[in-house]
Amino acid sequence: MSYVDEVYQMVVEKNPAQPEFHQAVKEVLESLRVVIEANEEAYKKDALLERLVTPERQLLFRVPWVDDKGQVQVNNAFRVQFNSAIGPYKGGLRLHPSVNLGIIKFLGFEQIFKNSLTGLPIGGGKGGSDFDPKGKSDREVMAFCQSFMTELNKYIGADTDVPAGDIGTGAREIGYMYGQYKRIRGVYEGVLTGKGLSYGGSLARTEATGYGLLYLTAEMLKCNGHDLSGKTVVISGSGNVAIYAAQKAQQLGAKVVTVSDSTGWVYDPEGIDVALLKEVKEVKRARLTEYAAARKSAQYHEGRGVWSVKCDVALPCATQNELLIDDAKALVANGCIAVAEGANMPTTIEATEYLQANGVLFAPGKAANAGGVATSALEMSQNSERLSWTFEEVDSKLKNIMVNIFHNLDDAAKKYGMEGNYVAGANIAGFLKVADAMTAQGIV
Ligand code: NDP
Repeated sequence: MSYVDEVYQMVVEKNPAQPEFHQAVKEVLESLRVVIEANEEAYKKDALLERLVTPERQLLFRVPWVDDKGQVQVNNAFRVQFNSAIGPYKGGLRLHPSVNLGIIKFLGFEQIFKNSLTGLPIGGGKGGSDFDPKGKSDREVMAFCQSFMTELNKYIGADTDVPAGDIGTGAREIGYMYGQYKRIRGVYEGVLTGKGLSYGGSLARTEATGYGLLYLTAEMLKCNGHDLSGKTVVISGSGNVAIYAAQKAQQLGAKVVTVSDSTGWVYDPEGIDVALLKEVKEVKRARLTEYAAARKSAQYHEGRGVWSVKCDVALPCATQNELLIDDAKALVANGCIAVAEGANMPTTIEATEYLQANGVLFAPGKAANAGGVATSALEMSQNSERLSWTFEEVDSKLKNIMVNIFHNLDDAAKKYGMEGNYVAGANIAGFLKVADAMTAQGIV
């Protein structure tokens, strides 16, 4: 059995009931096969892959808090500090009922390569809890966030581990967590990113993942002889990534005709009204039915359906495993030319392979959505310097980073004989830097 297969089998055996983690490891190891096999003896002797797939540290803790009725609630919480070979652990905190250790490990593992691809000195980590902020009062969310940080603060710091937002963790949650960190530790430092502008946040961080997704998509299209302008785009999700992806797509001349949430989706043939979407989702925290009620041209549908709409470009921006093989077939049948992942692992392996086999340009999330973490790293730099850069400065650095990421993965894919396979390119480019740093630092 090859070294890659041995390690994958070990991951499945040692991490039972963590299918998303197995899936993420499989996708990465498969595309690294050619690189590993070229240097197999050395990597194997150093157990480099075993170390890469095993988190440096995993924290599991309970979060007790009191709800508005006076009832004590208990949630499970996690922080997986996966790999610090190239910098302090960096990665978001997900608050969603589906969160478990396997989901956090898949996200943390992906984060290692994503952070490496940005070219910035940040290691990989991820955390979160099965707490659901939806439907909770602000006081309940604060009670949870304070209790969560009361435990987490012991393990994080501006030079050790710098968490950020993710699903369910937006500006409100980051604010409550930051306040509690400062109160307990008594230091004013950039320990979290995604902070509000009045207390150390970076301009353009809110927009960064969605904007970055479009910068990379536009570059990928350009390098393959297409222009984003005039294209029809379908987007899933209606959270932070989806909203700013829609905004930037429209600024670049495309027409975005769908968004979705966990209960339904909207088809708006005249183009999504981003200002209205922001009002419904960011201000009112309401369902998409309110968007459809306020806009004549929009049709609301229950359930899933975004990928059945005819489009040139598809941008999955909601959650993992939301674009399945039948969706991939529908996209290909409808003439879609490019899929770029705003979410983490939204496309199943089977669907990804189908899209690639049918000539669809495919940008994996670890490259395409890296704009969020890249801008978080820019927030860390501004915090260290005690300076704030302008929106234009941050946005232009973000654009450069995304264009560079695309060329890194394009070059890596070409170098290893897989031209146009951006999944392989991303994994290889991300891996080589981390592997080099791990090797140089000895057996740790
Ligand atoms: P938000 O919480 O702001 O939005 C998530 C969106 O996805 C909502 O519309 C939500 O609908 C929908 N959604 C969540 N879970 C499900 C589900 N199980 N089924 C269907 N729809 C679902 O999160 P973000 O926009 O921040 O994150 C979206 C994705 O992007 C995630 O995969 C995240 O890991 C990834 N990402 C985010 C970054 C960031 O900077 N925010 C950076 C890099 C990646 P509803 O409101 O109904 O739950």
